[in-house]
Amino acid sequence: MDLTGKKVKIKAKGKIFEGIVMPSVTGSLVLKLDNGYNVGFFDYEILEIEEIEKIESKTSLTKNPELPDVKIISTGGTIASKVDYKTGAVTSQFTAEEIVGDVPELAEICNVDAELLYNILSENMNVKHWIELARNVYSALKKYEGVIITHGTDTMAYTASALAFMISTPKPIVLVGAQRSSDRPSSDAAMNLICSALTATSDLGEVVVVMHATTSDDYCYIHRGVKVRKCHTSRRDAFKSINFIPLGKIDYMKRKIEWFVQDRFKRGERELELKDKMEEKVVLIKFYPGLKPDILEYYYGKGYKGFVLEGTGLGHVSTEWIDVIKKISEDCLIIMTSQCIWGRVCDRVYDTGRYLLKAGVIEGEDMLPEVALVKLMWLLGNYDLEEAKKYVKENLVGEITQSTKYWESMLSFFNSKNK
Ligand code: ASP
Repeated sequence: MDLTGKKVKIKAKGKIFEGIVMPSVTGSLVLKLDNGYNVGFFDYEILEIEEIEKIESKTSLTKNPELPDVKIISTGGTIASKVDYKTGAVTSQFTAEEIVGDVPELAEICNVDAELLYNILSENMNVKHWIELARNVYSALKKYEGVIITHGTDTMAYTASALAFMISTPKPIVLVGAQRSSDRPSSDAAMNLICSALTATSDLGEVVVVMHATTSDDYCYIHRGVKVRKCHTSRRDAFKSINFIPLGKIDYMKRKIEWFVQDRFKRGERELELKDKMEEKVVLIKFYPGLKPDILEYYYGKGYKGFVLEGTGLGHVSTEWIDVIKKISEDCLIIMTSQCIWGRVCDRVYDTGRYLLKAGVIEGEDMLPEVALVKLMWLLGNYDLEEAKKYVKENLVGEITQSTKYWESMLSFFNSKNK
């Protein structure tokens, strides 16, 4: 019988071992123990082997009337994954109930209802998923005190931005993921999930991303959903607030939130509202030296209505692009952002920038290119061109930091708190 991937109990070497059977190339049986270590057995060493039944979820279904109700919507990603011992690859395969069952501490913070909406890796998300998810979250917010979305980390910031623009929320909407799947000893899944539950039951009223703040299991940051980026491929503290500071941090051991930003949306401050139309014919183009403006004409010819340019430095593309920009900006919207990531676009300093502004480019202030992309999809989906144009430079949900001076004072406060 092939026991690969099954949980078994083995009597061998004078002891009892429990773990998951891994594929073995040597022919001997390799068991992954709960502590993450592997043990190998030759056939002749195994006295008894027994498949262990699936352990039932430890989550109590009885509600604690003292605790708030929270909905967890699972969309897939590493947080819902485990190693497929048949292929050796990490795949999305946990249901929402299983995720919750694995973290019984959640029951001390809130009453959880879980739902599996998708079981996909987040690189497979698209605008249609964002819209369906937004509708789902919107209905959940009518009933629950907060919503947690478990999500793949790769495109979590895009989804966070999409939800931030689509839903005016009076309650916390928390996106959470994991860099290491929960069957690995170094998994960050449980701590991130516990911190996300503390955030979902807090006095917040906006869309945030909650992930490890450091590489240790000490605290998580609460990042504003429209100001965050995944900045590392594999580290557990991969998420950073960009041109902003985290709204707060959560002490994992003390289960306590310390807020850094007082100027945040609070619970009950906004009315619940959903504006879920998105214009999909919007594109993000990264400029590099020598790139021809033909790319703009190509998309324009395909009916695209919105262009986000990821320009150089303060917000530039080659002057060769000016004529095409002038032509298409008559019935399209073109936003300039920067490849620098940090800082603000300013097209009034150099000649090129001034020509671009005259040709119809709008400065994207200090928005991340991907946030500007999602904002433009939402603006063009819900407003006419003139209105949408007006809103690009307006700070709608915290996507634009009001001034460089304000940002610098925030940063020095943040640094003094994190010495
Ligand atoms: N590729 C995965 C995803 O974004 C990575 C992760 O979940 O962390 O779904």
